[in-house]
Amino acid sequence: MEREVRVRFAPSPTGPLHIGGVRTALYNYLLARKLGGKMLLRIEDTDQNRFVPGAEQYIMDSLRWCGIEIDEGPEQGGPHAPYRQSERKPMYMQYAMQLIEAGHAYYAFDTPEELDAMRARLTAAKVTSPQYNSITRTQMRNSLTLPEEEVKQLLESGAPYVIRLKVPRKEEVRFNDLIRGWVVVHSSSIDDKVLMKSDGMPTYHLANIVDDHLMEITHVIRGEEWLPSAPLHVLLYRYLGWESTMPQFAHLPLLLKPDGTGKLSKRDGDRLGFPVFPLEWHGKDAETGEPTVSSGYRESGYLPEAFINFLAFLGWNPGTTQEIFS
Ligand code: GLU
Repeated sequence: MEREVRVRFAPSPTGPLHIGGVRTALYNYLLARKLGGKMLLRIEDTDQNRFVPGAEQYIMDSLRWCGIEIDEGPEQGGPHAPYRQSERKPMYMQYAMQLIEAGHAYYAFDTPEELDAMRARLTAAKVTSPQYNSITRTQMRNSLTLPEEEVKQLLESGAPYVIRLKVPRKEEVRFNDLIRGWVVVHSSSIDDKVLMKSDGMPTYHLANIVDDHLMEITHVIRGEEWLPSAPLHVLLYRYLGWESTMPQFAHLPLLLKPDGTGKLSKRDGDRLGFPVFPLEWHGKDAETGEPTVSSGYRESGYLPEAFINFLAFLGWNPGTTQEIFS
């Protein structure tokens, strides 16, 4: 049976939504509209250290200004409300436990000092990545190396721990990206990433996969900076037993600086005289903490229709001479 197309835009509220993020949202929206599907908004707010007040509202206001409509939200929030991962927190642990029970994840009790010492040893040996993996884990303090009794005691005593994915040593991880084609990565280059942090919050990787599965997402359309995470996500789908409904991935090329050397930043926009934000953003200077105001397309007088039309053409064209789209 054909599944209903379901896509999501999943920003982290770590600052104002940037033109690159709007473009990702737009491509999701267009696919959903073209295929008669649904689009969800999911706020990925599990990293409390990087949380910026006002960012979530800014994301919603920006999407609204652009005319990008959200079709579904959590039951209690109404159709246009976003899902928030912080409100779904108790659920993630159960999947981390499922992975531990199946032998695909483990507890790690290493202190920051022990981790630093390991990194220093790796740096001295000129190894930059991966760091915590099938080789180094054997020298660390985790539930794979410690006696069972000691693990039990540590857990009972409330000692801080994280839960890590046990990435296999030798395996090819492959998936077919809708833009890139077949991507094949050897598991020896993947870190045993943390899935649950010591504060009881899931990391991006676990929360993202659990939510995409439970929300029945069929297509994950996101920026290319997430391509390196995708093999890890494929392993998570496999180990959670969800491989048959794994979404299709499409990693979009990024909007680059005019000289092509990196991701477009606010500074590039300032220098060249165009905003990188849809709406004005009231923020704080990272160093001095002084309030700052950054201009947006709306305040600069651009019409949302023109802005969206322009964005749709960055990295795509219909193969005809048509330049104006609704
Ligand atoms: N929260 C991630 C971000 O900020 C989402 C990546 C994804 O779409 O999987 O971009």
